[in-house]
Amino acid sequence: MIKQQVSLQHLNTLRLSCIASHYCQVSSIEELVEAANYARLQQLPLLLLGEGSNLVLPSKIRALVVKIELKGVRQKATDSGVIVTAAAGESWDSLVAQTARDELWGLENLSLIPGTVGAAPIQNIGAYGVEVKDRLLELRALDLASGTVETFDNRQCEFAYRDSVFKQRFSNRFAIIDCTFKLNSVAEPQLSYGALQNAFNHNQGALSPRLVRDYICQLRQSKLPDPRVTPNAGSFFKNPVVSEAKAKDIEKQFPELVSYPVDEGRKLAAGWMIEQAGFKGVQRGSVGVYDKQALVLTSNGCANASDLQLLVDEIRTRIAELFGVSLEVEPRSYDCHGQQVS
Ligand code: FAD
Ligand code: NAP
Repeated sequence: MIKQQVSLQHLNTLRLSCIASHYCQVSSIEELVEAANYARLQQLPLLLLGEGSNLVLPSKIRALVVKIELKGVRQKATDSGVIVTAAAGESWDSLVAQTARDELWGLENLSLIPGTVGAAPIQNIGAYGVEVKDRLLELRALDLASGTVETFDNRQCEFAYRDSVFKQRFSNRFAIIDCTFKLNSVAEPQLSYGALQNAFNHNQGALSPRLVRDYICQLRQSKLPDPRVTPNAGSFFKNPVVSEAKAKDIEKQFPELVSYPVDEGRKLAAGWMIEQAGFKGVQRGSVGVYDKQALVLTSNGCANASDLQLLVDEIRTRIAELFGVSLEVEPRSYDCHGQQVS
């Protein structure tokens, strides 16, 4: 059922105040098709909503906001592991918890990431050296224009760092319906990140997906704000990738620069740069920079998108002045006409 003038404040983890002109929840593909048809007839843009943990919403939005509530998880055993298919509206972290309980390797490094299964491929969620692309076999998505269901294999998703075809060429064209992952029953720990190496290197024999998950949950809870207590959207900026020459140039002035080699050059730790620029813990009215991780912007629950934008502009300007680097916003932002602006 489509409702009008609905507040989305409790449906985005930054708790930004936002009134949607039209809103509905869908729990089946048929309902999703109906919603898409309604939006087309009414000439409304369609905004798909998971748990709202990677979104910046305007104070008012003229769009049909469709909350994805498709549910269900099924498993199929194979010789080396299990193929797991989860519907788009399932909680990502509940899926990770379940697979870790089932002693399946593959998703444990992605523990405690908020959001839904269906949103996970959109920005190719990643943490501690693992990305969704490393485990996703295929996904099914509804083409919102034609109403047909298409299957995308891993390659067709065109995954990249916090990116996929669904943020690029096919932005807002497909609604992801379900995702299928290939998980392993044989030990496959991914411990390349320093924190995990330190914790587990001595005792790899006794490792289990559950142990890795529990450790990552503890680590994240100690460093990251719980959106239910301190509204936020996780990392607000992507880590910029620059050429080796540019990184060396920055190091002349900032020898402590935190960076990691990648194929295209070097990935700079944006959180470190923001901290160096003096923003860690600063408060600007209803919004601020988290005091334990400067990459996370927070709200006091009474902010709107304009309050946040002022702080974003201030940080981006200062980082460009200091390091000569342009920071790209990670969450997807929308304007009052329902058009995506970043
Ligand atoms: P939403 O915010 O609701 O939507 C995000 C985008 O995806 C929107 O454009 C929306 O239209 C689109 N979308 C949603 N569902 C669908 C669908 N079914 N089909 C098509 N499009 C859809 N991200 C990481 O990568 N790594 C992390 O470690 C991480 N940690 C976080 C920690 C915190 C505390 C928070 C608040 C966020 C974190 N994030 C992280 C970001 C966020 O959790 C992920 O991007 C997550 O996948 C967003 O899921 P969601 O359901 O909330 O999506
Ligand atoms: P951290 O471990 O303090 O590391 C800071 C930054 O350095 C991270 O952004 C990470 O890049 C990079 N890094 C650290 N070790 C690395 C290695 N061995 N190789 C390559 N890059 C390395 O970060 P944190 O804030 O506590 O977060 C831990 C993990 O959770 C990170 O992977 C981070 O991406 C993820 N996370 C993401 C979000 C989000 O909203 N996107 C929010 C919270 C946490 P990467 O970011 O590329 O991994």
